[in-house]
Amino acid sequence: MDPDKVVRLVTALKLSSSPNKDPPITFEADSLLIGEQRIGRCLVAKVFSSKAVNHEAFVNQIPRILQATKHIEIGVLGDNLFLLDFKSIQDKKRALYGGPWNLFRDLIIFREPSGMQTPNMMSFTEISIWIQCYNLPLIFLHKDFLEKLGNHLGVVEEIDTKENGFAMGRYARVKVRIDISKPLKQHIRLSLASDEDEVFVIFSYERLPDFCYNCGIIGHSFRNCDVDPQEKGKLNYISWLKAVQRGGGRVKSRQSSPPNTW
Ligand SMILES: [Zn+2]
Repeated sequence: MDPDKVVRLVTALKLSSSPNKDPPITFEADSLLIGEQRIGRCLVAKVFSSKAVNHEAFVNQIPRILQATKHIEIGVLGDNLFLLDFKSIQDKKRALYGGPWNLFRDLIIFREPSGMQTPNMMSFTEISIWIQCYNLPLIFLHKDFLEKLGNHLGVVEEIDTKENGFAMGRYARVKVRIDISKPLKQHIRLSLASDEDEVFVIFSYERLPDFCYNCGIIGHSFRNCDVDPQEKGKLNYISWLKAVQRGGGRVKSRQSSPPNTW
């Protein structure tokens, strides 16, 4: 039987509550120092692809994708799940913080293993990504506002502003940790409490991996979308991409949800 299936079965059966009452084998933390040092150099990578990723292809492509300066030893942990042992801490940091990364346009998420985590226990649901915010009223170009705006998208990690705290240019940039199990936000509505006008702020994601044009979620394609076929096409994410390329425009909203008001 496939070892991964065995693990899933064992987990499902919750063997800890089985008749076998033997005590667990317990180790002192000090005895695991060698293992700790080793996983301190490692990352676990998951490739979001509907096809099985070939190990050899992964080994060949990853150093180029990460622009690694030193060798990376790579092993297979499971379906599209890999262990990377870095010789350079800088290479590891780049993999961890420099994404999002793609392998043949499929998203790769890197995570640091820790403690008693097994690969199956690790969570690969978030990525950090720079988001360009178009069509912002000029009075909103300060980092304090941009942080509030970014918090509507996820967890703000960085804001690209000048020393005086203001953004300059055609758009403002905010680095946000987003949950990839939720649809990408295409835009948000803004208004002032003292003004009836509303503004669409349009988002464009830098280095955005392939995502589903049907439901707006990263990690699967339109063909593999679970959303009811009757619903397919309603969200029209292709139009969203074109709108971002044009830079958006100030339009009156016809949505029923309330605007975000400051
Ligand atoms: Zn989908």
